[in-house]
Amino acid sequence: MAYDPNNVFAKILRGEIPCKKVHESAHSLAFHDINPLSPIHVLVIPKGAYVGFDDFAAKASAEEQADYVKAIGDTARLVGADEGGYRLLSNCGVNANQEVPHLHVHIFGGRRLGRMLKKDGE
Ligand code: 5GP
Repeated sequence: MAYDPNNVFAKILRGEIPCKKVHESAHSLAFHDINPLSPIHVLVIPKGAYVGFDDFAAKASAEEQADYVKAIGDTARLVGADEGGYRLLSNCGVNANQEVPHLHVHIFGGRRLGRMLKKDGE
């Protein structure tokens, strides 16, 4: 999938639309999801133009990759998700119903989250 610079997270990064920022580092930004699915629901994105984890791993520098992994863990602590436990989720591509074509990891927490995925046919 080609990167579309008009996606909503690219607009947030350019300051064209607002976000409720939680954390920022040299190469990453974390903010509250606009439509939270759990008491804690935060998105962590790299500042670079990557659609999913596959092209991030292929194209991002080692510094960007390290920064992003650290930003995810730091954000989980900052929002208190580490206290009761949390789930990381990244939808990449059509099968995963990715809505925004800019790499993002969801941090869900603040309640029991159930099992991770339904089996086929459920
Ligand atoms: P995806 O299905 O791509 O993994 O999830 C995209 C997420 O982005 C959704 O949870 C949706 O609520 C969130 N989202 C979409 N537009 C905006 C926005 O303008 N601001 C924020 N903060 N979140 C958004």
